[in-house]
Amino acid sequence: MPPSPSLSGDSGHAPLTSLGGVGPALAETLGRLGLREVQDLWFHLPLRYEDKTHVLPIADLRPGDRAQVEGRVEAVERGFRYRPQLKVLISDDSGRSLLLRFFHFRKAQIDQFAVGARILCFGEVRYGAQGLEIVHPQYQRIEADEAVVVDELLTPIYPTTEGLGPKRLAGVIGKALSRLPPDDRLELIPEDIGRPLNLVSLREALLYVHRPPPDTNLGQLGTGRHPAQQRLAFEELLTQHLTLRRMRAAVKRRRAPALKSAGTLRDRLLDALPFALTGAQHRVAKEVARDLSRAHPMLRLVQGDVGSGKTVVAALAALAAVESGYQVALMAPTELLAEQHLRNFRAWLEPLGLEVVWLAGKVQGRARKAALERANGGAHVVVGTHALMQEGVAFSKLGLVIVDEQHRFGVHQRLALRDKGAEADLVPHQLVLTATPIPRTLAMSAYADLDVSSIDELPPGRTPVHTIALSNSRRGEVIERIHAACAEGRQVYWVCTLIEESEQLNAQAAEVAHAELTAALPDLAVGLIHGRLKPREKQAVMDAFKAGELAVLVATTVIEVGVDVPNASLMVIENSERLGLAQLHQLRGRVGRGAIASNCVLLYQGPLSRLAKERLQVMRETNDGFRIAEKDLELRGPGEVLGTRQTGQLQFRIADLTRDAHLMPEVQRVAEAMMKNHPARCERLIERWVGDAARYVHA
Ligand code: ADP
Ligand code: MG
Repeated sequence: MPPSPSLSGDSGHAPLTSLGGVGPALAETLGRLGLREVQDLWFHLPLRYEDKTHVLPIADLRPGDRAQVEGRVEAVERGFRYRPQLKVLISDDSGRSLLLRFFHFRKAQIDQFAVGARILCFGEVRYGAQGLEIVHPQYQRIEADEAVVVDELLTPIYPTTEGLGPKRLAGVIGKALSRLPPDDRLELIPEDIGRPLNLVSLREALLYVHRPPPDTNLGQLGTGRHPAQQRLAFEELLTQHLTLRRMRAAVKRRRAPALKSAGTLRDRLLDALPFALTGAQHRVAKEVARDLSRAHPMLRLVQGDVGSGKTVVAALAALAAVESGYQVALMAPTELLAEQHLRNFRAWLEPLGLEVVWLAGKVQGRARKAALERANGGAHVVVGTHALMQEGVAFSKLGLVIVDEQHRFGVHQRLALRDKGAEADLVPHQLVLTATPIPRTLAMSAYADLDVSSIDELPPGRTPVHTIALSNSRRGEVIERIHAACAEGRQVYWVCTLIEESEQLNAQAAEVAHAELTAALPDLAVGLIHGRLKPREKQAVMDAFKAGELAVLVATTVIEVGVDVPNASLMVIENSERLGLAQLHQLRGRVGRGAIASNCVLLYQGPLSRLAKERLQVMRETNDGFRIAEKDLELRGPGEVLGTRQTGQLQFRIADLTRDAHLMPEVQRVAEAMMKNHPARCERLIERWVGDAARYVHA
């Protein structure tokens, strides 16, 4: 057994100022990057590499290359028409020329580019109006008789901060690396546990990624698939997994009210529902009830495709809490989704004599005060948006927190709401609902702090939606189709999409489409709904559509959630190329809710980007939310899919969940073993990789 790495004598913990040439000022700048100890520099990994080990002939350049070129200045031109611009044309022995284009430059720079001067430059080559060009290249002037010296090694490019040049940072990292101890003192994954993985030694891996040797396969290195990078990615994924598991363990150690009820309210609701639960709903409801009956907090994610019936499962959980004398908070990411829950919960719970209170950002003044009083005064269920997490919102006896569409929230928010109930040492149970089924390997990583239940069955009688994509130039045919569908007594959604952030522009677009369709379909009743209508107006329009008084409903993406009209069997989505897969899938989930065969037309405005083309193709091929989510992950990456970009939770230094997901089963195995037998090493891994961010763990 190798000697256990200990704090004492570990050069990694020395302060940065112990490195030659690092004074307090530089140490402070490095601190802005989260770098405090020598080991932080070891693990400050390159984002990418630049290859300045050779000079390419201009004739060999291709757009997209990042290349080093040497040439003579042929011509210099300064433009002022729209904004200052400096254009320097260079050529080399290959007989071709290349334009260097600058938008910011100083007088001294202009003087350097005298015609005939020799320039060595580096940058990304692209096609410009005048042929190949590099915008803002790195460059240096070479004297007429001077030999060009190229780098011997690839240049690592590190994440840096203002006031810290790349050379200086690389220099400091180089100094830190000279203190890298032998492997037996660096390695934290115990030999016996790590051996089957055949990992590259950590020391070797670090030296490799910081200083790739000249014979490096740049293709492999550029995509992060080199064994040294995979070694580090493994450790990073392991650490992130351990962090979430530690957070989970910390929550699980706390006490929660054991919500053991006879199930009287539950039975009354089930009796009142016009349908029977599906097998999957039954199973998941049971899993939730079992968690709730324990004296430690539930941390459970319920995932299920659009329309799988998660709301009823949430309501049943709420009833268990209420029957045990506790309150429930239900939080959704958008007002519309929250409103939809409010309606459902009121319809189901009020007949049972329960109070359901509404508290969203829009609720202001006296109404807000009243809602706050009721939350504090013991209202059974409080439904709302983020407003539920604000200061001043207090519950008297919060026993269960339900968060819908958790992937749009970050971990912090989850914790903030949980803390609302943290008085008297009792932590509420947490139930998280998500309509985006998450690929298993991603769930292992992103939701390692949660137990996962899947509602993997749709209520009976749903029919798959047939989807086609049509260019906007065939709008006329589509309107014909609407006419035919309505003649058969069907109803139609026409969804307008613009820029998601501007509900005003969206509303305008919907108004235009509404006018167009009203004119084109004079014998049909065409309604309009968008986010700028008052809740009561929205409800009136929805009610009319539900009652069949409207044949066509022109809508913005506000109908993404919650709308349920089984007779609507055709959906047209305008500008579908602008939407992501998850949103398209959510929207399409509004049709195919009855026994009638349903259709979805994805209207697009060409030409389509490659990604847009792929998205529409996926939508045509499948109705399976799980496959769509996997494709979404592949196209967009996990940060976007989980919506946690801002929280930084999934911002890895070297790992990439899309690329490295195959490592997760082993990550999980190693994590189990280490938590069991080497807790101190787990802590040290977290400290090494997570550092500052480790505070979430204790939140
Ligand atoms: P989601 O999982 O997308 O949130 P909802 O909970 O909104 O789905 O349910 C979608 C629709 O299906 C609702 O109208 C709901 O009342 C209905 N529903 C839920 N469970 C069943 C069931 N077991 N049988 C029939 N309809 C159901
Ligand atoms: Mg829902």
